[in-house]
Amino acid sequence: MALKNGREYQQSIADLALEAHIMGRKEAALTDHGLVRPSLAAVAVTYDGAHAEDPATRALFRVNSPLCGEEVNRFTHLHQSTDDLVKKVTMQRYCGHTTGCCFQRCVGMDAANAVYSTTFDCDADCGTDYHARFKAYWAGIQQNDLVVDGAMTDPKGDRGRRPRDQKDPDLFLRVVERKRDGVVVCGAKLHQTGMLNAHEMLVMPTMGMREGEEDWAICFAVPTNTAGIRYIYGRQASDTRKLESRSLDVGNPLYGGQEVMTVFDHVFVPRERIFLDGELPYSGRLVERFAAYHRQSYGGCKVGVGDVLIGAAALIARMNGVARASHIKDKLVEMIHLNETLFACGIACSTLGHATPAGNYEIDMLLANVCKLNVTRFPYELARLATDVAGGLLGTMPSAHDLEDPVAGPYIKKYLASAEGTDPVDRIKVLRLIENLVAGAGAVAYLIESMHGAGPPMAQRIMIGRQGGLEEKIRRVKAMLNIP
Ligand code: SF4
Ligand code: FE
Repeated sequence: MALKNGREYQQSIADLALEAHIMGRKEAALTDHGLVRPSLAAVAVTYDGAHAEDPATRALFRVNSPLCGEEVNRFTHLHQSTDDLVKKVTMQRYCGHTTGCCFQRCVGMDAANAVYSTTFDCDADCGTDYHARFKAYWAGIQQNDLVVDGAMTDPKGDRGRRPRDQKDPDLFLRVVERKRDGVVVCGAKLHQTGMLNAHEMLVMPTMGMREGEEDWAICFAVPTNTAGIRYIYGRQASDTRKLESRSLDVGNPLYGGQEVMTVFDHVFVPRERIFLDGELPYSGRLVERFAAYHRQSYGGCKVGVGDVLIGAAALIARMNGVARASHIKDKLVEMIHLNETLFACGIACSTLGHATPAGNYEIDMLLANVCKLNVTRFPYELARLATDVAGGLLGTMPSAHDLEDPVAGPYIKKYLASAEGTDPVDRIKVLRLIENLVAGAGAVAYLIESMHGAGPPMAQRIMIGRQGGLEEKIRRVKAMLNIP
């Protein structure tokens, strides 16, 4: 099947007729909703990339899939080489600097690669047939060029208690009933990036499950318009600016993110869509693999958004007439250095990737965790530097509504004049974009998600501690010093 373009994708989501609770109202026709539309447009970029005029860009998005024997969008691809892994990160950087926000489609790609190799391992050890099921399911996703939301994070309730010891066992998503042809699940997944812009969701356990927790070790896929699923839209800083009639104050005029609480109230999952059901050791393995792929992803997407922030900081410096000041140049160099360090991590964990027994490629786990741990820090420093370069006007600008007022407007233009040749309205546009990324709706993806998405810093520190090869380093030192 031909690869969809952005317009065809948006129509295919409208056809699903999803509904959500948004700011106190049950909303239908989501694709026309002012809070949702920018996030849908951001995902559409992942489709339009496959039709870009520039052949080099098209080549990033298009790849031949041995799974279905057709050319597919890379966002549905199972990586076949380290070159594929590098192209994935490069494509994510492209999407990041095109949209300046989260484009949401990576989670399903990362989940699919993790489920693919984990179901293979499980079948080899346990004699199950999950891998064949998943391959059949995913070939359909590739052929129909769909968006899949990877859903992992459970609410978790009291963090000091295991799933079965919670007052409410639904705080971890679980099987509540077993039927001849499938299972019924209850629970919720939080922080679901782009869920309402997806055709399907691939649900995974939130952590490694132990004996007695078999009902919580469940992995499956369902369409997003399945009966019993409810969506509650996430509120973000300054989000209602998207609903105002003057787009200048939004900051990012075309694109934005989306976060959704997803509730499963007795949702039936047919057997052929179940990819893990009670095989305990594979729940933890799946979590680790998915997390590592997504930690690699941040070495692309957040770098792309960083490109936007750096570009905006350099432009505002020019508009303010300070571009030649040495301390400004130095701050911009520092921003570039930090951003490219993140990209270097994304590329490094990709280049040192390896084939899994299932045949798809996995990143270097240690370096993927190092990548994401840096992502929990550097964007904050980039935001600090951009705030410094932009100046205090970032926090005090009058609104676009006053700009059009016959009395206030001319004063604003007169007193926000800056370097020769700079239109004060353009200056406001750039400052609003910076504001969006460091303190507005865009900061959700650029800062909060950099901290907590794909796991908080402690999760990466645990993995780095485990995989850092400390014993080997000690052994080397002992050998060097002739210590027995
Ligand atoms: Fe993709 Fe980045 Fe958004 Fe995750 S945070 S879905 S990696 S753009
Ligand atoms: Fe994320």
